[in-house]
Amino acid sequence: MFARLKKLFSIDIDSAELENARTIPAFAGKTVFLAIILSIFVSISVLLMASVFDVLPVTFSLAIAYGIAMSWLVGGSVALFISFCAWRLIRKLYHSRDEFERLSRTDALSGLLNRRAFNEAFESVQDNASLAIFDLDRFKAINDCHGHSAGDIVIRTVANTLADSFSSLHPVARLGGEEFSVIIKGGQQGDRMALVELARRKIEALTLNFETDVVSTTVSVGVAEIVPGRRKDDIFISADRALYLAKASGRNRALHENEMHGVQQEYRSGVTLLNGSAVRNVKQGQARAS
Ligand code: GH3
Ligand code: MG
Ligand code: MG
Repeated sequence: MFARLKKLFSIDIDSAELENARTIPAFAGKTVFLAIILSIFVSISVLLMASVFDVLPVTFSLAIAYGIAMSWLVGGSVALFISFCAWRLIRKLYHSRDEFERLSRTDALSGLLNRRAFNEAFESVQDNASLAIFDLDRFKAINDCHGHSAGDIVIRTVANTLADSFSSLHPVARLGGEEFSVIIKGGQQGDRMALVELARRKIEALTLNFETDVVSTTVSVGVAEIVPGRRKDDIFISADRALYLAKASGRNRALHENEMHGVQQEYRSGVTLLNGSAVRNVKQGQARAS
């Protein structure tokens, strides 16, 4: 009983309750009602004092009736007006909080999720998913030849291509620089790898015009599996290793962690295949023999 009364007269509001659209009008209604009760209480107290000092121009009962009516009218309308102003203010704050929250999770250059949002998404996935890390190949050369702003355009274009390649089910993020990550959820491992391969091909097919030059780019990808009980750090390290090996073994390829052993053997033997041509690997400092 006491708890219910306390709740009725409480003017506290939990920030979590603001998520519910009906909370604010209900809270305003309650505040108006409490303001009227307070107004009636103050009116009766003043009228009682006036009655004790015999300065009431009308009978006490009539004064009480006027007092209560005025409390509803004046107290109610003032409280309603103030509640309306407070409601508008809260709504604005609520919207700016949403916008701030959205911006704090978005990468400014690409419009994709940023690293913070990616980490949250990554932590929340436990099973039946793959982590893919994409890194543009020889991106520094684009910056050096065409300028930093051209590099930014390439990053944005690749970001859009990745966002188009994966539905909203799969979080796509820019981790920083020219590195992106995607959490591909559902399906079989092979289906997820096929999506990665499709995205890689779409990036390979991009052409951008900078003044008289036509610029194209490629991407290397490392993929690792998200399975129950596997530490997220280990998944990330494994995808990163696969990416490193994809780079070292010729670039412009997507490599799954399960394929690493075979590629490593190939790599150690000193010859890898790039687009069908035999090339010497970077480790041994040998030039392409295509
Ligand atoms: P690799 O194939 O081995 O990945 O070579 P790379 O040249 O892509 O790799 P590296 O890490 O050497 O170069 C990445 C470059 O990306 C270096 C840095 O100047 C550039 N970079 C990082 N962030 C940005 C950015 O926001 N905009 C632009 N335009 N360039 C960036
Ligand atoms: Mg790179
Ligand atoms: Mg990089």
